[in-house]
Amino acid sequence: MHRNITRRDFLNGVAVTAGAAMMPWHLMADNTADPEKAPGYYPPALTGMRGSHPGSFDAAHSLRDGTFWDLAGKPEDTGETYDLIIVGGGISGLAAAHFYRRAIGNNARILILDNHDDFGGHAKRNELHIGNTFRLGFGGTFSIESPAPYSAVAKTLIEELGIDVPSYSKYVDKNLYRSLGLRPKIFFDKETFGADKLVINPTPRSGGESEDAEATSRALVKEFLSSAPIAEQAKRDFQRICDEPKDYFPGLTSDEKKAKLARMSYASYLKDIAGVHPDIIKVYQAFPLPLFGVGIDAVAAQDAWGFDLPGFAGLKLDPAPGKGMNRDAIPNAEAEKYFFHFPDGNATITRLLVRALIPDAVPGHSASDVLAKVNYANLDQSASPVRIRLNSTAVRVKHLGDAASAKEVEVAYARGGKVYTARAKNSILACWHVVIPYICEELPDKQKEALALAQKVPLLYTNIAVRNWKSFVKVGSNSIYAPGMYHTYLNLDLPVSIGGYQCAHTPDEPIIVHMMKAPCHPGLPARQQHSSGRMELYTTDFETIERNIREQLARILGPGGFDSARDIAAITVNRWPHGYAYEYNSLWDPFWLEGGETPCEVARKPHGRISIANSDAGAYAYTDEAINQAYRAVGEITRT
Ligand SMILES: Cc1cc2nc3c(=O)[nH]c(=O)nc-3n(C[C@H](O)[C@H](O)[C@H](O)COP(=O)(O)OP(=O)(O)OC[C@H]3O[C@@H](n4cnc5c(N)ncnc54)[C@H](O)[C@@H]3O)c2cc1C
Repeated sequence: MHRNITRRDFLNGVAVTAGAAMMPWHLMADNTADPEKAPGYYPPALTGMRGSHPGSFDAAHSLRDGTFWDLAGKPEDTGETYDLIIVGGGISGLAAAHFYRRAIGNNARILILDNHDDFGGHAKRNELHIGNTFRLGFGGTFSIESPAPYSAVAKTLIEELGIDVPSYSKYVDKNLYRSLGLRPKIFFDKETFGADKLVINPTPRSGGESEDAEATSRALVKEFLSSAPIAEQAKRDFQRICDEPKDYFPGLTSDEKKAKLARMSYASYLKDIAGVHPDIIKVYQAFPLPLFGVGIDAVAAQDAWGFDLPGFAGLKLDPAPGKGMNRDAIPNAEAEKYFFHFPDGNATITRLLVRALIPDAVPGHSASDVLAKVNYANLDQSASPVRIRLNSTAVRVKHLGDAASAKEVEVAYARGGKVYTARAKNSILACWHVVIPYICEELPDKQKEALALAQKVPLLYTNIAVRNWKSFVKVGSNSIYAPGMYHTYLNLDLPVSIGGYQCAHTPDEPIIVHMMKAPCHPGLPARQQHSSGRMELYTTDFETIERNIREQLARILGPGGFDSARDIAAITVNRWPHGYAYEYNSLWDPFWLEGGETPCEVARKPHGRISIANSDAGAYAYTDEAINQAYRAVGEITRT
């Protein structure tokens, strides 16, 4: 692990109790017709269960279950007509509005619908208060980064928004944690490893900071081996696979070896080929969760080689990427340099896009206005050419007439327990692809099947406001991998100060601790792991998650003096049952090895006046892909 893997290096008020989760959507009516216009409406400051919050998914799930139209009355025609209706107010939907205006002009009338109470999709902003201290957090999309370089289109948009990616080093205090002697560590829990123990991480990921050469030194490995509560045989095996490289496939060419590795999991490689003790597999099992949402049982050994995980040195593989490698696993030095983290993650991108689309909604003039407060009441004003309608789930998108000749598309959406319709010349579906077959029934069956294959990767991004981080200093770590615990990674916030916002500079100041979980069920095929993980997220209440957080922090940081009852000021759980776009890989997607048209290419085909965007359209869980796909979709409708 000598490479700086930037991205995912950490990586309700009311719980979704069974009752709330199952409440029919039509009974969830708001008291006000326009909740966004109510005084005090300000979703970023809400704590508890966020992300896919209660009320955001009920209409869509009712549609999926076939009960929606039984409960819906006759849709009410708003009488509104637009040039374009966009379904999905994430980066892709907002970027589509931006590109459409570029193509058609700023008078173009656009309606953006999103089912959440805030815009941004996964790029969600969390605001937390600890006494008088204000802290910003990211509820999803963490940073500008990608395994492959941003396209010219995506880079240009980022620049147009005023974001100067190369200037990042001006804002981040890269040496803060290191200067206090903090190091990445592994927490061994007694249920999995027989003892609760915090040990140096010999193969750490970085948290967006540059990786220290020392982090991979023999000294670290020695320290790890001397204190890790794993079997003596496991220690010998670890040393062996690191220090005594062996060619396990003598006589095969590099390509032949890679082809073998592409078809076996890293867990199988370690167990059956390298013959290591099961404790080593337990240590690495959860390691790739922040990238793939599954552990090494479901990640190809070839991809593990791409990540520099141990055990491959003796194979003497040609460094060129092997056929069927997951795109995340292919190192790219240029891409790694293109990194920027705002304190609210890529929510800043969405705020800047909204400012460009609806200037009255987001005050300020520069990309560093991270303290500007969005005026939600101005998002949906009849006088504005662009309107963003939150709390609105699109439930039916259809041509008014035959798709080949229709002049208009009608979009029906559920909002506040009622169904409304609006019409437009075109529609872009920038929402999650698995939803599209339910809302756009007229699509060809083959396309619907391809859309349904875009299984999302479920994720939990939890932000915990703590009163100080002295306990982290005492235990000597800012970044902890806990392979056996509820949340797999926990990290102190990246120390970024920008535009008047100041991060915590000293351990006695309040800070946000990020915890990350990817629920999955090792042993099942990847897509099944994701669907059962998704179910787990929908059925776990906030209290259960909170209890796990408190226990986990107490066990890991207790020896440093942490007291959950005293030190936790607030918790925001960003639950994303529909998280990352599913990325193809050689273990579970034969077409990825064999070549040919991929499901996402079939899924994103335009249909009459309807085009399809979202990062799902590229099967690539990154902001640049969300932008690229928006650009393509706009190109399709503006050419016709
Ligand atoms: C926890 C997490 C962390 C991530 N971190 C990073 C990162 O650091 N860097 C990075 O580049 N990428 C990251 N990603 C990937 C992220 O998905 C993309 O970068 C990008 O934000 C996706 O934008 P999008 O518009 O394609 O999709 P989304 O952000 O998912 O937006 C789609 C929107 O459509 C809405 N929608 C769905 N159905 C309907 C409907 N029927 N009616 C109305 N609205 C609907 C959804 O609710 C959602 O709000 C992360 C993703 C997650 C989940």
